[in-house]
Amino acid sequence: MKEFGDMPIEEFKKIGYEFIDWIAEYLQTISEKPVLSQVQPGDVKRKLPNEAPLDGEAFDKIFADLNQIIIPGMTHWNHPNFMAYFNSTASGPGILAELLSGAFNINGMLWKSCPSSAELEEVTLNWLKKMLGLDNGFWGIIYDTASTSTMHAIAAARESIDDYKIREKGLAGRDDIGSLRLYASEHAHSSIDKGAITVGVGLNGVRKIPVDSNFSMIPEKLREAILEDKSKGFKPFCVVATVGTTSSTSIDPVTEIAKICKEEDIWLHVDAAHAGTAAIVPEMKWLMDGCEFADSIVINPHKWMFVPIDLSVLFTKKRDVLRRAFSLEAEYLKTPHNADVTNYMDYGIQLGRRFRSLKLWFVIRYFGVNGLIDRIREHLRLGRLFSSWIEEDERFELLAPVPLSTTCFRAVPAFIKTEEELNIFNENLMNNINSTGRVFLSHTKLNGKYTIRLVVSGIRTEAKHVEEAWQIIQEEYQKLVR
Ligand SMILES: *Cc1c(COP(=O)(O)O)cnc(C)c1O
Repeated sequence: MKEFGDMPIEEFKKIGYEFIDWIAEYLQTISEKPVLSQVQPGDVKRKLPNEAPLDGEAFDKIFADLNQIIIPGMTHWNHPNFMAYFNSTASGPGILAELLSGAFNINGMLWKSCPSSAELEEVTLNWLKKMLGLDNGFWGIIYDTASTSTMHAIAAARESIDDYKIREKGLAGRDDIGSLRLYASEHAHSSIDKGAITVGVGLNGVRKIPVDSNFSMIPEKLREAILEDKSKGFKPFCVVATVGTTSSTSIDPVTEIAKICKEEDIWLHVDAAHAGTAAIVPEMKWLMDGCEFADSIVINPHKWMFVPIDLSVLFTKKRDVLRRAFSLEAEYLKTPHNADVTNYMDYGIQLGRRFRSLKLWFVIRYFGVNGLIDRIREHLRLGRLFSSWIEEDERFELLAPVPLSTTCFRAVPAFIKTEEELNIFNENLMNNINSTGRVFLSHTKLNGKYTIRLVVSGIRTEAKHVEEAWQIIQEEYQKLVR
């Protein structure tokens, strides 16, 4: 007899309870696992069959493979000693809300297709807006990642050039318009280039503006670039300022940049994907200085707000332009409520949408605004504590200011004389640190110097973990010097 229907509910219940126990155990013992996966390329694939199983398999068997094959091939982002890139940590309430979101499995394309999803998104983003101190003119929408949020911002900026009629005519093969130009600092995230590629601006249409000694965009250079481009017949249409760059968390002077954008009638998008959430901390409100003049701003609660990946928020003051860029009226999607509700499908390329606001709601309610502030504030303290250790130790040096909780540094052993050798030494040092599996750091290049980054923004990271990281860095330094 053939079987039909879903997993029997009794089995679902039994396995479900075991599942929660397993996740709890995983989180409890995570620091015993290597934070950076120690597998080699192909190790995971080799252990998995090439063909899908013809007959259903028992959960026990699937779980055994999870433990033996999948777990060793994982870099544990929830690990307290994960201090690479920018953290994305899943908090308990976030994990549980994800489970619910999967269970409900709604598609929030229209208000009607799930009114709670549409209205909870509106309410939670209004909360977030107030927590960040953004003014009331902003309207928010959830996308998956900052890359997607920024791509939509660039598309809206493009749509705001009224006389180009790009929505109807496209960009290809047109000689009636000047080529579009977008500006961002040399330290801007690669997602801006990707957005430009996607919306037809092209990499040649992205002009990188030089930075000062703090790695912040030089507004005067921006103005010069815009004027030069205009004189050559280009069409400047978008500037992306970054609050918290990926390399060093440097902060572009948004207020001055906004002034230029206003004078030149150019869309200003602010990329605050990582750093933006720190603006909920009262003494960090200055992070949003100038953002009141922006047309759009992206912030990732899935980074420094402990919401499981993915959940990125785009706030914009030009909701109507974003809508104009993306809305189409398919007959089968028309509803009687269209005039007085938000149909989020009108504001982006995706039709189907997950119930993402649920996890944001759970996280904000469980910790409370004060709970989130306390956690971020402690990360800021630990980040500065670590940078003070670097600063006071003559074997190391800081390579960038530390406005948040990210420290850019390198080792400078006295016997090494050339920059090239220093680069090699620091690359080896970082790789040795990471191969211990006890802490995970990442790197960047600042002024040609190999730079090790240590970030404190994971929800499980405490003082003892930062101390442990410092211990490991010093141990590996001594080994390498010897
Ligand atoms: C992380 C980050 C991004 C990209 O974020 P995704 O959500 O992974 O696309 C872009 N810009 C900045 C400044 C970031 O920190």
